[in-house]
Amino acid sequence: MSKTNLGKILTAQRTAFNASPNSSWAERKNNIIKLGEAIADNEANFQHAISEDFGNRSFVETTIAEMAIVQGGIKHALKHTQKWMRTRKAPTTMQFKPASNKIIPQPLGVVGIISPWNYPLQLAIMPLIGALGAGNRAMIKPSEFTPKLSELLKSVLGEIFCNDEVYVAVGGVKVAQEFSSLAFDHLIFTGSTNVGRIVAGAAAKNLTPVTLELGGKSPVIIDESANQTLAISRITNGKLLNAGQTCVAPDYVLMPKQEIDAFSKALIAKAEEFYPTFAGNPDYTSIIADSHYARLQGLLEDAENKGAILRTAGDDDTQVMAKERRIPLTVVTNTKPNMKIMQEEIFGPLLPIVASETLENSMQYVQEHDRPLALYWFGENKARRDHVLNNTISGGVSINETAWHVVQEDIPFGGVGPSGMGAYHGEHGFKTFSHMKGVFFQSKFSGGKMLYPPYTEKTQKVLNMMKKFM
Ligand code: NAD
Repeated sequence: MSKTNLGKILTAQRTAFNASPNSSWAERKNNIIKLGEAIADNEANFQHAISEDFGNRSFVETTIAEMAIVQGGIKHALKHTQKWMRTRKAPTTMQFKPASNKIIPQPLGVVGIISPWNYPLQLAIMPLIGALGAGNRAMIKPSEFTPKLSELLKSVLGEIFCNDEVYVAVGGVKVAQEFSSLAFDHLIFTGSTNVGRIVAGAAAKNLTPVTLELGGKSPVIIDESANQTLAISRITNGKLLNAGQTCVAPDYVLMPKQEIDAFSKALIAKAEEFYPTFAGNPDYTSIIADSHYARLQGLLEDAENKGAILRTAGDDDTQVMAKERRIPLTVVTNTKPNMKIMQEEIFGPLLPIVASETLENSMQYVQEHDRPLALYWFGENKARRDHVLNNTISGGVSINETAWHVVQEDIPFGGVGPSGMGAYHGEHGFKTFSHMKGVFFQSKFSGGKMLYPPYTEKTQKVLNMMKKFM
């Protein structure tokens, strides 16, 4: 069967890898440094490209949520990767002493990276930092929703890397399908749960291990001990960053019914303080595409038709807003389980609030739904906080904050169940993109010969003695 272009690139990368499978720290460091420099040199180009792809993407948000996160990941990798690369000693099982064990981290080979449109630079580059730090080569498939960014990424990375080191495959779903069918040594996919299922299926045909960084509905629990003023600022900020098009954006809030009215009004007031106008405001990001804009409007329409109350921030001209594909913060109350807004990931600036009278009710609600990518808890009572931490399962958690656990390089970032599998960032990424090879060094003096056949009564005595140490 003749190979496609992508297949040829993979072969070229694997051949180059096999010729030199154990790259030195100096080589890896050089790759990471030049990556960091190329991204920094192109900051303005990235800001413009991403903004053009979105219609409007705040330059400041691009600096905070793409450039700064990537440079933070690079700095952390440069500081620690040499240590992570070291062969580690491991304890030896009692009966085998004086033999010894070691764990040797090895690169896997070629890593495939499929990235989404919402943070199109960050979510292509963060996995790349991990892959390069672990000594791999990589192929990246960015999203077709951000064509300008994808072309820029291809040209910037093409300047500093040969095709057999790092390659960017630009294109739509057809290219994505072909890409995910390649026999990578590891495939990391960031995107929706539905496409994640398809990608995992394609990778399974090659037995390619996958890391799936997916989405879902991330709840916020407002505890009775919460400082509500603080919660309102932080939820509004987390929800409106990138106009809610963030995988870890707070999706909905759980709180007692009698507090919902005042809380909703305060959220709206805070949004209006952050964004005195939404239309034409360079700080406020547009919805990526007409299809997503229509989907979000559809969620609001469906909720309203089923009895929800909508509160909208600002009083911008709706026609201008529609032309700019902007939606202000819209708080949705009187929600019911049959509303689509309570069933699918929102991924936009709409915030439903669900009445929940007790902490146990809130936890039960979370447990009865798909395991979320993130969970947010606001409160001061440590016992209640720990109760939630110990009895709910989510990819990650921020306490008294939204979203920012994602940029902590020393904790794993990843989902669980329908919100993903595997994790990366920092050393967790290094391990994801490495093979941690276990090696057993047998000693000259080994009791193993006492268990050689033929098996006799003596063998049984040795086994009985061994059982005492097991
Ligand atoms: P998406 O799943 O539609 O697309 C992601 C990538 O998959 C794109 O590059 C696309 O080209 C590719 N793709 C599309 N169809 C494919 C197919 N059939 N086979 C292989 N690849 C295919 O996701 P999106 O709309 O770009 O991003 C939004 C989703 O991503 C949300 O659900 C969000 O929560 C999630 N997300 C998760 C994280 C995380 O780190 N966990 C980060 C950002 C976004």
